Amino acid sequence: MDAVDATWGSDPAAPRDVLGPVAGGPAFDDHHPPRADLIADCVHCGFCLPTCPTYVLWGEEMDSPRGRIYLMNQGLGGEPLSGSMVEHFDNCLGCMSCVTACPSGVKYDRLIEDTRAQIERRHPRTAKERALRAAVFALFPYPRRLRLLRGPLRAYRASGLQRLIGRTGLLERLAPTLATLDSLAPRLTGVPKPPRLVRARGARRAVVGMLTGCVQSAFFPDVNSATVRILAAEGCDVAIPEEQGCCGALSVHNGREAEAQRFARRLIDTFERTGMDFFVVNAAGCGSSLKEYGELLRDDPAYAGRAAAFAAKVRDLAELLVELGPVAPRHPLPVTVAYHDACHLGHAQGVRAQPRALLAGIPGLELREIADPEICCGSAGVWNVFHPEPAAELGDRKAANVLATGADLLVTANPGCLMQVAAAVRRHGRRIALAHTAHVLDASIRNRGTADLLSRRG
Ligand code: SF4
Ligand code: SF4
Repeated sequence: MDAVDATWGSDPAAPRDVLGPVAGGPAFDDHHPPRADLIADCVHCGFCLPTCPTYVLWGEEMDSPRGRIYLMNQGLGGEPLSGSMVEHFDNCLGCMSCVTACPSGVKYDRLIEDTRAQIERRHPRTAKERALRAAVFALFPYPRRLRLLRGPLRAYRASGLQRLIGRTGLLERLAPTLATLDSLAPRLTGVPKPPRLVRARGARRAVVGMLTGCVQSAFFPDVNSATVRILAAEGCDVAIPEEQGCCGALSVHNGREAEAQRFARRLIDTFERTGMDFFVVNAAGCGSSLKEYGELLRDDPAYAGRAAAFAAKVRDLAELLVELGPVAPRHPLPVTVAYHDACHLGHAQGVRAQPRALLAGIPGLELREIADPEICCGSAGVWNVFHPEPAAELGDRKAANVLATGADLLVTANPGCLMQVAAAVRRHGRRIALAHTAHVLDASIRNRGTADLLSRRG
């Protein structure tokens, strides 16, 4: 293993391990430990601190990017993977706000991903943690299983039980994780499954494969149907193979490397057959992982090259539409919109200008900016399920900033953000219409006016 920077070890603010070592032996094994050269890029300047949601919440050095990099360095130096170390790494939302803020170009995204995979392999979790993780990862990456929840969820809401339980506040006190899941459950819309192939309207400009996603296809199928209509209107043949499955984003963001690799191989096999020019994604968290497929499968000789080629074709919907340029006429939508940058779109993919350009290109639409846009809403994949209280606090901050814009409609490009902000706005006793960027573009292209958009309340 490479030598580590000695100046880190002399820091008087070194963390004391209050929980004690749990695994024994050095923190990391030799399978892709966090890289010493990337750690050495950090000059300890602290510019990232005010943009880190956990540092903003708790003001703890070890819950900042700089502190976590310090802990990684300690692990590389032979320190054991202690309980408190793991807790500080677990607390990280993976929002990549620090990557945007860092003037030295520290690749924190690479560092935390490698660290999480080490933790998942080497750190024994408690029975309660294991049970929760087993339930989450047996459900969320499987669209068919998620779809089975739609019926019971509808019945639960229609029975009035949800309102009753909500009024007692009992669930928050007894089972905050369940209360979080309960509050996040979106209003369900029913739309038919998209066909396997949708032809371009007019002259074909590109063939695109489309990811339908897990949460997206189960709870927001209307985002997928709007995406397909937009792509067809903009001259794309859209291939949507039914057997595509999960992209592995949730797994890779939680250190489940082997599981993520299985999902990635299957997706590559499925879409290579379509002859696509681009692979389009309408969920920010999925897009950022798909663009990293080359890294994920770098050790697999059968897939490394194919994964890199696949990743080069991945585009967020807004990114692709700007790249192609509009051909479908836009019709007016007289509405004020607050646009929320999903972290995995803004920070992780650098896609900020494109969705704003698309929205601003709609006649009559007024775009408003949200204060503190760099701070995560607290959704962060399943971080809000594992950390319900701080996630609610971050959600409340975001909701207050969204409501302060006075906009009619909140627009974002990630299902997790939509559910998280909707729940927080409801806690404020307020309502705001919520939509995906695809809903707004689709309404404009089809000249549907604003009534349907403004009726989308979380
Ligand atoms: S990814 Fe987000 S939560 Fe994690 S250290 Fe960076 S800014 Fe903080
Ligand atoms: S901004 Fe970058 S270099 Fe400065 S402390 Fe944060 S990670 Fe390190």
